[in-house]
Amino acid sequence: MLRTIIEAGGSATRSEIARATELSRPTVDERVTALTRLGLARATTARNSTGGRPASSIEFAAERFISLCVDIGERYARVAFVAFGGKIIAQQAIPIDLTVASDHLLSNVVVAATELQDGLKPEQRQIAGVGVGVPAPVDYPGGRTVGWSVMSGWSGFDIAGYFRDIFGVPTFVDNDVNLLLLAESETVLTDVEHVLFVKIGQGIGSALKISGAIDRGADGAAGDIGHVHVAGREDIICRCGKRGCLEALAGGWALARDFAARESSYAGIDAGEVADVIQHGTPLVMDLVHEAAQRVGEAVAVATSLLNPQAIIIGGRVGCASDQFVAAVRSVVYERSLPLATRKLSILNSQLDDTGGVRGAALLVEQNLLSEEHIDDLALRKDAKT
Ligand SMILES: [Zn+2]
Repeated sequence: MLRTIIEAGGSATRSEIARATELSRPTVDERVTALTRLGLARATTARNSTGGRPASSIEFAAERFISLCVDIGERYARVAFVAFGGKIIAQQAIPIDLTVASDHLLSNVVVAATELQDGLKPEQRQIAGVGVGVPAPVDYPGGRTVGWSVMSGWSGFDIAGYFRDIFGVPTFVDNDVNLLLLAESETVLTDVEHVLFVKIGQGIGSALKISGAIDRGADGAAGDIGHVHVAGREDIICRCGKRGCLEALAGGWALARDFAARESSYAGIDAGEVADVIQHGTPLVMDLVHEAAQRVGEAVAVATSLLNPQAIIIGGRVGCASDQFVAAVRSVVYERSLPLATRKLSILNSQLDDTGGVRGAALLVEQNLLSEEHIDDLALRKDAKT
């Protein structure tokens, strides 16, 4: 019901809510009472435009929905407080080292968050939820990472529980690329139901939206395209220990390795610097980038035939560093797919900036907190206390 009020512009009369939700008037009254008791909505009166009797509306209490959002990358974590609707009210990026103990790293994140929180206006300091993105497969209902990832030693660590214990609010954890897809979907691809998002940064990951919803697969590993096998390249060893992974040929760390092998001045650069090198592209660099993009295109072409997406978004600092990357992916996908699979397909660069991950995390929190199940649960708990 809150969604209905929000979609109506933030306030609606009880009759309007009943019409839009097709709920009976007594049910609407009952739910409005529950939302008001929880402080999530309030009654307001506004004189109607004809100057008649003031109309009583139910207004969404948007100020109650400030989220703490954390986007953990391979080198930096971005911490942000985001108001309902996506406005970032405070943010900070801190350097991190994923090889240190998980609770040590997260304690640094919490220090940064608490400092930011202290600088907010008093009415903005109460948060409704926490959203966290991580560069790893996630057991979404459990709020923890699973399986091998660059977050070595994190598998099974209860990230959601860690934040819940400190901040005392519901916490939701998801894969970082799922959050980018969520942010891109809400801002740019609002009416697109079938999307594949491929992030090429230090590593390579992807996310799927199928029939309008993020698809995480059975175990949270859906879209782990970085570790698909590229035939004939068993000579290359990946960070995961397997041979011939896509990421080991085309990820930022692989390009850094290949740039340095050809030109010693590039030794020791990271994915952020790889993006800078690509932007200033020498012919040597652009040959390697073109080759990497073609490998990505081959994997994406297989996914296109399987999924028939309407849009493929190429994101990440490396994937967005040059138009030539997305152009090479596009050309391979069109060449290898049947016309029906590409008839309505757009292959574009992501429009998000470095805040895409925290924006996606805020949307994840909002979607969960506004769900009928969560509100019913809150109401039940409040009833139990009174
Ligand atoms: Zn691998």
